[in-house]
Amino acid sequence: MLKKFLTCFSLLIVLILSATAYAKPAELTGINAYELDKETVRIEISYRGGRLDDSDISSELSLDDLRIEINNALPGRVSRVSGMQIQPAAKNFIDKILVNETKKEFTSIQIQFNPIMESGGSTINLEPANRAEKKDAQIIIDVKKNAAQDNWNQYNGDEKIIVLDPGHGGSDAGAIGPTGVTEKSVSLAVSLKTQKLLADSGYQVVMTRTTDVDVAAPGVSDATELQARVNKAPPNAALFISVHCNAFSNGKANGMETYHAPTAVKGARLARLLNEELERLGGLNNRGVKAARFYVMTHSQCPASLIELGFITNPREEKLLASDEYQQKLAQAITNAVNRYFNQGGFD
Ligand SMILES: [Zn+2]
Repeated sequence: MLKKFLTCFSLLIVLILSATAYAKPAELTGINAYELDKETVRIEISYRGGRLDDSDISSELSLDDLRIEINNALPGRVSRVSGMQIQPAAKNFIDKILVNETKKEFTSIQIQFNPIMESGGSTINLEPANRAEKKDAQIIIDVKKNAAQDNWNQYNGDEKIIVLDPGHGGSDAGAIGPTGVTEKSVSLAVSLKTQKLLADSGYQVVMTRTTDVDVAAPGVSDATELQARVNKAPPNAALFISVHCNAFSNGKANGMETYHAPTAVKGARLARLLNEELERLGGLNNRGVKAARFYVMTHSQCPASLIELGFITNPREEKLLASDEYQQKLAQAITNAVNRYFNQGGFD
């Protein structure tokens, strides 16, 4: 009898232990939203730690949002926006994603659709972890556009407008390198390459100039020329980025740096992201992120930054700045920074 009792008792313990092990909550590790096709946006919610099945997940779809409740899950790093990526094209569908632990080990995810968008339905699937591909388990949500709503594909009012300002031009060559490479040609080449990459990423790009010209007119004052550049930005421009090369009497001066206006919080963030991406290129000494009262930054209505790509007066850097390959890398770095500006730390 006693033995039987012990057997039962240990069985009970095993049951309690396995129930506890099974109840270990899942922890969200990331949310990625992208356009699957012209009619579908896919939202991938990655998690690890615990196991989820269909009964843990419920969803409620309305015209302008989708709420997903996940039992037995913690927001993890996704509670901070660092774990979230909304690709630019997906912003035609999605305005915001909010993640909250609304009850203990119960996570609520609210996907707010773009105000213009009407949802036509959604499906939710669970994908197990893939060790070989180092992928966490995922909750995959496909949101369909409402077939009756035909203005969705044409809608691009949510495309962010980026203003690129290639420094100098026309009568003003800017600084000139030891072999004659001009700042105005480097700033234009890098800006044109950036324009293409940003457009490919879904941004609208406004250039202050696309050829070798003065933006105002030859011979005008600096303020008039620079104000003409600021004026090229539409009122709803999201960012203004001015591209320059540095110069110094001593050819040994070297490195890149980025600038923002002294009290500009968003401008400082833009300058920091640009600086990080330029540093990641690994080519040049990093002179840091600096505050200055450059005209285009203090007069822009939107967050603004000025980049000094490198010293055109330094023989090694002049050669780099003139090379098509390095210009392409610079353009990619600027594009990466813009993407990070909008995909990390908020959706402003
Ligand atoms: Zn310059």
